[in-house]
Amino acid sequence: MLQLRDTTLLGAPSLIAGLPTGKPEIDVLNPSTGSVVGRVANLGAESATSAVEAASAALQGWRAQTARQRSDILRRWYDLVLEAKADLATILTSEQGKPYAEALGEIEYAASYIAFYAEEAKRIAGELLPSHRADSRIMVLRQPVGVVAAITPWNFPAAMVTRKLAPALAAGCTVVLKPALETPLTALALIELARRAGLPDGTINILTGKARAIGGVLTSHPAVRLISFTGSTEVGKILMQQASTTVKKVALELGGNAPFIVFADADLDAAVDGAIMSKYRNMGQTCVCTNRIYVHSSVHDSFVEKFAKRVSTLRVDDGFSSDVEQGPLINEAAVTKVQSHIADAVALGAKVVTGGQRHTRGGTFFEPTVMTGVTPDMAVAKEETFGPVASVFRFDTDDEVVAAANNTETGLAAYFYSRDVKRIFSVMERLEFGMVGVNTGAISTELAPFGGVKESGNSREGSQHGILEYTELKYVCVGGL
Ligand code: ADP
Repeated sequence: MLQLRDTTLLGAPSLIAGLPTGKPEIDVLNPSTGSVVGRVANLGAESATSAVEAASAALQGWRAQTARQRSDILRRWYDLVLEAKADLATILTSEQGKPYAEALGEIEYAASYIAFYAEEAKRIAGELLPSHRADSRIMVLRQPVGVVAAITPWNFPAAMVTRKLAPALAAGCTVVLKPALETPLTALALIELARRAGLPDGTINILTGKARAIGGVLTSHPAVRLISFTGSTEVGKILMQQASTTVKKVALELGGNAPFIVFADADLDAAVDGAIMSKYRNMGQTCVCTNRIYVHSSVHDSFVEKFAKRVSTLRVDDGFSSDVEQGPLINEAAVTKVQSHIADAVALGAKVVTGGQRHTRGGTFFEPTVMTGVTPDMAVAKEETFGPVASVFRFDTDDEVVAAANNTETGLAAYFYSRDVKRIFSVMERLEFGMVGVNTGAISTELAPFGGVKESGNSREGSQHGILEYTELKYVCVGGL
């Protein structure tokens, strides 16, 4: 049993119209130990339809509340999340595996979206535009888009939920949430806290169970007006296609293949810190994790030496053990993908400098790995590894490395290190990515618009842009004045 102050947070049920739904029947496993952390309901299409109807029924009442009333409820939710942060982080580490310190950081980060959008609820403004006629006026209203379906992944079980729900609720939308089946317990606990904060029944409905059946309803039910999805590019494309039959808005946050460029003039120690941060956070299982490291030939060997030395000392263990830096991967399929990427690279001439094997701890633990001599024909160059493997390429010119960095269908995050102002602007402007970290490996904050271009997605989460996604414009022409 987990040590929780508030034991009722574990085992919070799926909710439709405020009512507990389904029996706890699907086991949620701890990826570190294989033990059962909790059980959740196995709901399908019928429940998804009821959840959409509940969200639809709650919509008029919720959007009619004043911005201040919605803001106050969100603010209470934020307070409750922070009060429960130790419990939430314990649940999160237990079902997801990341080190407890990272889980605590994620809960605070998740809460920051609730606080931010509690404020933004009061700042959704329309426009009064110059008119085309003396006897009329042009008004532009910003109204809630309607019922929102949110589908979230397992790598950030808390933050991906609040990043969607907080702006949706602040804008006056109601929600049906389907969290990933690997990590539903954190989401269920967060929604229980939202309920306690005073969110009216039906404003948030949460369903665990059959992804395809639930996804099928959420993407086809005419009452759903926006699908907000974070997950793989593959599933994002399916959802986008399904949503086209009823012309829903789709807000997608999909995969990346982030380049990390170290120029000859970089501060190498800072670059090593940034690379560790952006590569190994969450065991490499984030969509903004560095996937390809390009190092200028003149500093390649010294960078690799410093970097590999640090990587080889990263402490791999259960997420609850002290000073742990790397937990287990989410499941066996994740380990298989990492192994296949390493094997493919080695077969094509790459060299493993450190790591490369399953960790002696067993299960889905894997050694933090660094490979050099990586070339564009290898799978690690083309696909997101989503694991603790750093692949190092060499380059000689700025034009060459910018072209290589952009040579991918995805465009989420990119990072580079340089101290030359001219180069910083030139490279930053030419990188085809939604987000660029210059001399930093940590870019995520509720204050900035997070999102990608190309096959990485079409929306932004965070900042004022993140709430505008959940609104739509209505043009009103008042004539005969
Ligand atoms: P990952 O590779 O990160 O697990 P996925 O894209 O497979 O990402 O899953 C992200 C989320 O999408 C999860 O909540 C998962 O259950 C859900 N999902 C997967 N397939 C479908 C589908 N066909 N329809 C709706 N949701 C789906």
